[in-house]
Amino acid sequence: MSKNFDVVVIGGGPGGYIAAIRAAQLGFNTACIDEWKNAAGGPAPGGTCTNVGCIPSKALLQSSEHFEHAAKHFGDHGISLDNLKMDVAKMVGRKDTVVKQNNDGILYLFKKNKVTFFHGRGSFGKAVEGGYEISVAGKTAETLTAKHVILATGSNARALPGAPFDEEKILSNDGALRIGAVPQKLGIIGAGVIGLEMGSVWRRLGADVTILEGLPTFLGAADEQIAKEAHKAFTKQGLKIEMGVNISEVKAEGEGVAIAYADAKGAAKSLVVDKLIVSIGRVPNTIGLNPEAVGLQLDERGAIVVDAECKTNLPGVWAVGDVVRGPMLAHKAEEEGVAVAERIAGQHGHVNFDTIPWVIYTSPEIAWVGQTEQALKAAGRAYKAGTFPFLANGRARALGDTTGMVKFLADATSDEILGVHIVGPMASELISEAVVAMEFKASAEDIARICHAHPSLSEATKEAALAVDKRTLNF
Ligand SMILES: Cc1cc2nc3c(=O)[nH]c(=O)nc-3n(C[C@H](O)[C@H](O)[C@H](O)COP(=O)(O)OP(=O)(O)OC[C@H]3O[C@@H](n4cnc5c(N)ncnc54)[C@H](O)[C@@H]3O)c2cc1C
Repeated sequence: MSKNFDVVVIGGGPGGYIAAIRAAQLGFNTACIDEWKNAAGGPAPGGTCTNVGCIPSKALLQSSEHFEHAAKHFGDHGISLDNLKMDVAKMVGRKDTVVKQNNDGILYLFKKNKVTFFHGRGSFGKAVEGGYEISVAGKTAETLTAKHVILATGSNARALPGAPFDEEKILSNDGALRIGAVPQKLGIIGAGVIGLEMGSVWRRLGADVTILEGLPTFLGAADEQIAKEAHKAFTKQGLKIEMGVNISEVKAEGEGVAIAYADAKGAAKSLVVDKLIVSIGRVPNTIGLNPEAVGLQLDERGAIVVDAECKTNLPGVWAVGDVVRGPMLAHKAEEEGVAVAERIAGQHGHVNFDTIPWVIYTSPEIAWVGQTEQALKAAGRAYKAGTFPFLANGRARALGDTTGMVKFLADATSDEILGVHIVGPMASELISEAVVAMEFKASAEDIARICHAHPSLSEATKEAALAVDKRTLNF
């Protein structure tokens, strides 16, 4: 006997579980199917983000940052420590606890919002009158029917050709978050968000970290001035970053991994490391979904083809998050999930792709929203720029963290904010003000005239807005 639902969501990551909650809030009889298992084989909803992505990486970044502060910066505050040690197993155990709290939180939210949860793999059976048949393969098998289906099956790490992940020596993000002892030498292929964050964790704990990147430009998606500042800071910290390399071979041998590559000038080089993290991007995941059964259209990358409203080629079938086009970010997936649930309810769900914030949780943190200076130049847009360094911010001095700056880009005529770029302390939090401002189409002058608490890092945001009009007060 099949169980009937108005909405069935396949995938319980940030795109899926949020879509399910919003659909239930809107009065739909909603189910969410997710197959992720914890170490004991039980349900672990939350997807990549909760289990092997955003949340555990931030837990390790926090622990390793505490360690680095204790080792290098406590002395400045008159605090001395003897015999400072890092218990990696405990750090990883704490990270696992944080993950479990988030898994349990989602199960609680399902109950609270009356979302029926199925633990197992969901796949298309067939189209039936007024909807679809979905089978769930878990501890028990179930058949569901749904009028509307939301697909949120996420993405998987991309492996290097010829060097599959063994999660012992050649690691995806999954293995990178489970390293049991500080490696002496750590190699990372890919200087993107994940590579930089993971590299920072293990460098802070004492590993000799080399990051190899195929692209010639460091953080090409970020504003050039900000990327340059960040590169300077990371290099000073001891991260070795080689740009423009061409990897020819990766071989797990003996106790380590040997990497053969050509550097940016074409010279043959080699690197031997204890562990290698490969973070060269992610591929959309539709494994086990059985898209052929209903004729669901995928593109050449394997992503589910959707229109601007997340509609697939099938009536009543929607897709959100990493499995569709657009940036692979948890908050983008969530916004799409909410918008789709609201569209199913006949409302006007909306996602503004122009104001999606980007954050890299390194130290200094990097965050931005809107357009970069190089993009404005390329588009021939007339703009004004203003920057303010944290070096001139009282709170940053008190914190002992004065690296970086806030940068504003505004339209030359209307003064509308076109982009805000931050490298520095708490950039991840500071960027929210810029996102709100851009959503409300604020001008740089609007931010410059708003009273910001003193002393706070947010005063650097106000000052950068003032700098657009060349009238900073503290620099
Ligand atoms: C190391 C790392 C750090 C990251 N840090 C950040 C960050 O700081 N901020 C940020 O915004 N983003 C970050 N991301 C990206 C973020 O994790 C993803 O963008 C986000 O998880 C995408 O959400 P999603 O719901 O589309 O898919 P996912 O989170 O991948 O969830 C998909 C879920 O669907 C399940 N599933 C798949 N197929 C089926 C099926 N057939 N049946 C049942 N279940 C199925 C999967 O098991 C999974 O639980 C990070 C990623 C990584 C790897």
